Amino acid sequence: MEIITSSKAMQERALQLKKQGYSIGFAPTMGFLHEGHLKLVTQSLQENDVSVMSIFVNPLQFGPNEDFEAYPRDVERDKKLAENAGVNILFLPERTEIYPNEPSFEINVKNRTGVLCGRSRPGHFNGVATILIKLFNIILPDHVYFGMKDAQQVAVVDSLIKDFNFPIELIPVETEREEDGLARSSRNVYLSDEERSQAPHLYKGLQKGSEAIKKGEVNPSSVIHIIENYIKTNTNGKIDYIEILSFPNLDTLEQIHGKIIIALAVKFSKARLIDNIILEIHS
Ligand code: AMP
Repeated sequence: MEIITSSKAMQERALQLKKQGYSIGFAPTMGFLHEGHLKLVTQSLQENDVSVMSIFVNPLQFGPNEDFEAYPRDVERDKKLAENAGVNILFLPERTEIYPNEPSFEINVKNRTGVLCGRSRPGHFNGVATILIKLFNIILPDHVYFGMKDAQQVAVVDSLIKDFNFPIELIPVETEREEDGLARSSRNVYLSDEERSQAPHLYKGLQKGSEAIKKGEVNPSSVIHIIENYIKTNTNGKIDYIEILSFPNLDTLEQIHGKIIIALAVKFSKARLIDNIILEIHS
């Protein structure tokens, strides 16, 4: 596995690969790798000549009271996991490589951000879009791999690629879960033992909602109520949001129909967890 730390060297390498006719698959991450990240790589390896992973904890996408400093990091472990997964090039830039000087431009994501994490984390998707524009221009990928655990991110990247005409295909990858259903996340290490035993109930709550919809419930509030009760009964987590929206447009719905997302965010003492289920309902 090649490790590249300079943006210029990475871009030169990508240009060289393109000239040689190789396709590039790219999975951006913030590291502290787990099976979810590696699933992105596995799929990229199947569909591209060269697979690039980046690890960069992007300060721009964290709010002032969020966990940027405390975000889990273990670069040496990540290098081994990435290499074992088959990553061809690991792009591992320092902060100064990505943000060498005060930027002249500010990216403002207008659509698909007034709901879910976009509402709870103001500015988060502006930071995500900014880093992705940079990474797409540095790595020049043909295919980019994003996990559906962060479904709103998938929706925003879909718009980003279309709005700015990136010659890139977005490949959403299904959420990788622990055996008990908990969505894998770098932040799971910050759950206490008790919280860890409660956390699978987030997905179970989503499943309860999904079952109600499949049985014919079309009122979003009723389904949200079912999930809310279930989570309040089975966890000590504080519900940040539970929402049912169209996907990928993320519009609010009077009635549940078509392709929808049921999404939630729940705060435990040191970790805020998110999860979702996507459904297609045709009556
Ligand atoms: P992060 O390092 O948390 O920014 O995640 C980097 C990429 O991995 C994003 O596209 C995430 O959606 C994806 N990812 C994170 N957790 C999972 C998971 N459990 N299953 C699939 N993809 C995931």
